[in-house]
Amino acid sequence: MKKEYNICLDIGGTKTLGVVFNKDNEIIYRIKKKTQDGGADSSNVEELICSVVEELLDGAGIKKSQINAIAAGAPGVINQETGIVLFSPNLPWRDYDIKSPIENRFGAPFYIGNDVNVGVLGEFKYGAAKGYDNVVGFFVGTGMGGGLILDGKLFTGTGFKGAEYGHMVLNDEGPLCGCGQRGCLEAFSSKKGMTAYIRQQISRGRKTKMEDKITDTGVFKSKYLKKYLEKGDEVTVEAVDRACHYLAVATGNMINTISPDVVVYGGGVIEACGETFLEKIAAEVDKYCMPSIRPTVELKTAALGDDSILYGALSMIHDHE
Ligand SMILES: [Zn+2]
Repeated sequence: MKKEYNICLDIGGTKTLGVVFNKDNEIIYRIKKKTQDGGADSSNVEELICSVVEELLDGAGIKKSQINAIAAGAPGVINQETGIVLFSPNLPWRDYDIKSPIENRFGAPFYIGNDVNVGVLGEFKYGAAKGYDNVVGFFVGTGMGGGLILDGKLFTGTGFKGAEYGHMVLNDEGPLCGCGQRGCLEAFSSKKGMTAYIRQQISRGRKTKMEDKITDTGVFKSKYLKKYLEKGDEVTVEAVDRACHYLAVATGNMINTISPDVVVYGGGVIEACGETFLEKIAAEVDKYCMPSIRPTVELKTAALGDDSILYGALSMIHDHE
């Protein structure tokens, strides 16, 4: 039987997406699963990957022998060449070789990379940044991810630790960030940053519809941000304005640094409220970049939405062929 199917996964801190691509790069089957908290046991995440792949095979009616390759994006510092997960903030992996067990189990090559880097790669190969050589990506979700394509290649820096400009410091006396620093872009413009602002306003006695939408994950769901932004909830609008202001500052900094062809905004927040964010960022960004550089830069929202990372995983497979 022909090995004509590629299986791609987006392993998130809370949910994992899995799809089957046919040889025309079309998604023919997809599932979504909760990422179980694996505690200290790395094999739980390995089990999760295996169970998602098994479920995809069953659901799509495909045999193991028909898998061409498997690939995934996951949070953390990942050696894309060896498949060793060096560190993952939300998953219980430290110097963990995830590649061999998956390959042994399914008899197909397995590739894995940092989720934001892989997502930018997806937009570069199949989405909003297709046809450009230099791409700056901002992925706005629970955290703030950064990913760079330089001269047509994914740039991951020394030790696969780049490109974390979601933690560029925009105000060293600003709010505390999860990384330990103050005033990072993430602390203003991610869901965590916006949630902190909303909570601060609530503690000052202000009312907002977002109050009971902050779940036990510590943040809100993007669909509620969209809903109350559109309804004009004052605190929500302020949180978004502030997020977009700092995204505009960060975008200006990156434009000056890289002189990219395009800046692409992706992630769950952008999937829900991308047009509003893009409008607000575009209205301010000129103040923060050099007039000589700005005219050659386009600003776009991700074209693949929630599937950026899945398509990026697919392009990792094609890059190895
Ligand atoms: Zn930070």
